[in-house]
This record gives sequence, structure tokens and C-alpha cells, in this order.
Amino acid sequence: MHLSSRMLKVKESPATMLSKKARALSAQGKNVINFASGDIDFPTPEVAIEAALKAARSGTVGYTNVDGEGQLKAAIANAFCTAHGVPVHDSNIIVSTGSKQALYNGLFVTTEPEDEVIIPAPYWSSYIDMAVMAGCTPVIVSCDAASGYKLTADALESAISPRTRWLILNSPSSPVGAVYGADDLLALAGVLIRHPHVLIMWDELYEAFVCNGGSHPGLPAVAPALKDRVLTVGGVSKSYAMMGWRIGWGIGAPELIAEMSKVQSQITSSPSSIGQAAALAALVEGAPARDALVQRVAQNRQMAIDMIGTMDGLRIAAGAGGIYLFVDVSGFSEDDRGFADALLNETGVLVLPGADCGASPYIRINIARQPLQLEAGMRRLQQFLRTGGQ
Ligand code: PLP
Repeated sequence: MHLSSRMLKVKESPATMLSKKARALSAQGKNVINFASGDIDFPTPEVAIEAALKAARSGTVGYTNVDGEGQLKAAIANAFCTAHGVPVHDSNIIVSTGSKQALYNGLFVTTEPEDEVIIPAPYWSSYIDMAVMAGCTPVIVSCDAASGYKLTADALESAISPRTRWLILNSPSSPVGAVYGADDLLALAGVLIRHPHVLIMWDELYEAFVCNGGSHPGLPAVAPALKDRVLTVGGVSKSYAMMGWRIGWGIGAPELIAEMSKVQSQITSSPSSIGQAAALAALVEGAPARDALVQRVAQNRQMAIDMIGTMDGLRIAAGAGGIYLFVDVSGFSEDDRGFADALLNETGVLVLPGADCGASPYIRINIARQPLQLEAGMRRLQQFLRTGGQ
């Protein structure tokens, strides 16, 4: 079969590939603990499940508006305005099949071949492949511990070229959990204002997960002058443990949203009607469940930090949010893929190698697991290290 040459440059998402591997190993009877996936191992709020059942039973099963059902868009607008104090309207919002679709559609409708997309590393690997699929060249900017693994204004300035079309920012980030504060954003905005050809993807999918009850500022709120150049991306996957319901959104300038909607009309027609009913209930009535989830992840974080603290040779990259710990394993190995393979083979614990996030030698550990699983996985890691990582 002839495969598009475009696909030679695109790889499958490492997290989905590893999750497939975990399921296959479990099916063979191996006791696998999967810390590599991006799943939240807690239930979807009951209000969302009830709303989905009601929608299915009442026959709310047709295609909806291409860009999402009106009540859901109003609830997204309300949540956005409550969080960031920035009013948005129906024409600013598109509901998508997960935030992934909003991200990709945004890149797809605005870029020409060879345009550049600036992606700070450590990164969520799909940004790279999405940029490549859209025909663009990813420009990776390494961010280190000194900047809290965040892009600095100087590094941004050096990375911008006449071909730059997008900057992608993720806060709280995967894999580190870096949270951009208002000062960080103002410094970046100072640069971006001088380069009006650059659009900004502001991925706040992990917005609920900020440590110590902190909040994370939104880029359109901190830098109103950039508002029309920002595509804010969010969704219910993480905040409401609704990964498989596949509802996310983009919030941006009406002309951008209209083009993204055109793409959606051709490739998916509309996001799932039942998923949208569930997401609406989550946004309107799910705050207590969301708060409880955030609390449980915070407790897990503390447990995992305490346990890793007893493991000589491991160092956690400091982050202030998200659902992962990004752990430096250079005390044991410079090869994080080899480390992750050995860990899986010896203990059944699956982690994402930092190499898949543009930073080595690290591993990414998902802490949004059931506490007993998290503890068991940490103990296996501890044992693995005690025996020399062999
Ligand atoms: N953005 C980031 C940083 C992610 O980690 C993920 C998924 O793990 C997504 C976007 C896409 O999530 P979804 O399509 O489920 O909304």
C-alpha cells in the first residue's frame, strides 16, 4: 500500500502506544501498573454519567451543531469568564472531539508548509507530531531548572523568525507541571507584542490541578492586547476525569473559530452529542466532584514526593501543578528509555521516558492513580533501584 510521505515524519503518541502495551501485558496475566498514560484513574462525576444516560435514553443522539451545542458553549463561556475574568461569546468558542482536535484544527487552518511552531521542552509530545502533520517545522526550545522549566522572554525572542506562525504554551504543563505566573506571561507578552505574526496556543487542559489551592492566570487575561491572537484550549478530560468522553474546546477569535469549524464539519460533523450532555452537566454541577478529584491528586502528589524523597539518586523536577512528576534518573542512567524498559520488565511498572518529552534522562510518572496503586508502584520502583536498576 502506498502511504503518504507525510507519515514518514509522524509517530504514534508514545503514551497511547505504551498504554496499548500495558493492556497487552495485563491480558497475558502480567501485573502491570501504568504510570505512563495520561488517564485519570478516578471515576467521572455521577452528574455527568446521569446526564449522558438521560441524553441517550431521550434520543439526544443526532449530530449537534458542528461547533458544539449552544448550552454547552454558554457553560464554557461562563467557566472561562469565572476563571479569568474575560467575557467570551458563542462565536469565540468551538467544542471539539477532545482538546486534541481543537489544537490540531487550530494549527491546520492557519499554517503554510515550512511555517515554524515554537515548542518549549520538556513538552507534551503530540505538539511535535501535530505541527509536523500540519506541514510545519517544530522549533524546540529547551527550558531548564533555572527557569522552572518555563520559556523565558530571551529564549522566545531568539526562537522567533519571520516564519514563526505559532508559539505553544502549556500551563500547568505536561510533563513537569510548570505553572506560568502573571510575571512570566507579562515578560513573554512583551516579546509577542513586537511580533504580531505569531499566534499563541494556550493549552490549559490541566487548569484545575494547581498545587496548594493556587490559581493559574490565563494568558488572555494577563495580556489583553494579545487576546485576538490566542487560542485557549481546554476540556473536561482531566478536570472531570472524562478522558474517553472526548469533549474539549478552543476559545479564540471568531474568524479562527469559524475556519476550525469548517474543518470539523468535514471530518467529524460534530462532537459526540452524549459526550456534550455529560460535559455540560460536569461544568454546571460538577464543581464538588472536581474539587474532590483535585484534592485526591494533591494527596497522591505528596505521597509520591515523600516516597521518591527516600530513593537516593532520584530528583523531582520542581513543578507547581498538573498530574505528573517528572523525575531525573541521571543518578542511575543517562538512558531513560533503557531505564523505563528495565523497570517494566523487572517490575511491571510502566513510565514515560523523558526522551518522548524532549528532555533526558527523566521519567514521567502519572500520579492521578488510585492511591493503593500509586503506593504499590512506588514500592516497586524503590525495590528496582535498590537492586541496582537491573
Ligand atoms: N494537552 C495536553 C498537555 C495533554 O496532556 C493532553 C492529553 O493528555 C491533551 C492536550 C489532549 O487531551 P484531550 O484530547 O483528552 O482533551
